[in-house]
Amino acid sequence: MMIVKTIGEIRDLVKGWRDEGFSVGFVPTMGALHEGHKSLMERAMAENDRVITSIFVNPTQFGPDEDFEAYPRDLAKDGALCDQVGVHAVFAPDAQELYLSDKCTTVHISGLTDVLCGSKRPGHFDGVCLVVSKFFNIIGPDKAYFGQKDAQQVAVMKRLVRDMNFEVEIISCPIVREEDGLAISSRNVYLSEEERKAAQVLNRSLKMAKSVLEQGERNAPILKAAILSCIIQEPMAKIDYVEVVDKENLESINGEIKNNVLIPIAVYIGKTRLIDNITFEV
Ligand code: AMP
Repeated sequence: MMIVKTIGEIRDLVKGWRDEGFSVGFVPTMGALHEGHKSLMERAMAENDRVITSIFVNPTQFGPDEDFEAYPRDLAKDGALCDQVGVHAVFAPDAQELYLSDKCTTVHISGLTDVLCGSKRPGHFDGVCLVVSKFFNIIGPDKAYFGQKDAQQVAVMKRLVRDMNFEVEIISCPIVREEDGLAISSRNVYLSEEERKAAQVLNRSLKMAKSVLEQGERNAPILKAAILSCIIQEPMAKIDYVEVVDKENLESINGEIKNNVLIPIAVYIGKTRLIDNITFEV
């Protein structure tokens, strides 16, 4: 497996593959790889002749008060996991090469990014859309793999591809969880042992919501209230948002649930902000 650091080298590599008629799958990540990332890479391996995983802690998607500096980085360990999965190349570009100092282009998707995490993390999705657009232009993959854990990101990526005519298919992959139900995240390493236990409340509240939906409840405010009251029972949890939205356009549902629904939540456990969600087909 190759670790490629420059744009020129990754372009040459993909060109060689294309000349041989290979399909190319792409898994963008920020590193600190875990079982969630692994599941994306394995799916990409099963569906493409060649797979590239990018490892890049993207500065433009972090707010000024967020954890860009502290974000866990371990290229050697990540490389070993990629090698174990069998991906053909890791693309770990240099921020200076990717972002020239006089860059002046932004990629903004309105509406979809004004809600949920977008409203809590101004500029976050602009940074994601910019870096992913660059990767799509540099690599030109056939398929790109994203985790349903970041459900809003998946919706934004699908819109980006549609609106910008990128020739790539966005594949959404299921959330991978720890045994106790906590969605695996690179940020889980920030949690103390006590916080780690408290963090189970996210999944617990969503599981409860799912069973309420399965029993036939279709009133969004009732569902939301039930989730809120479950989370506030955990003293270490501070709710950032709990929403019931349309799965496709992320518009808030304030009455009866009639279409496929996404219930995304964001909760601080101590200083760590965790997200999780469920979807339900109506
Ligand atoms: P990140 O490195 O956090 O930017 O994540 C890279 C990709 O892995 C994104 O598409 C995430 O949605 C996905 N991902 C992260 N955690 C999980 C998980 N627990 N299950 C499935 N996909 C995940």
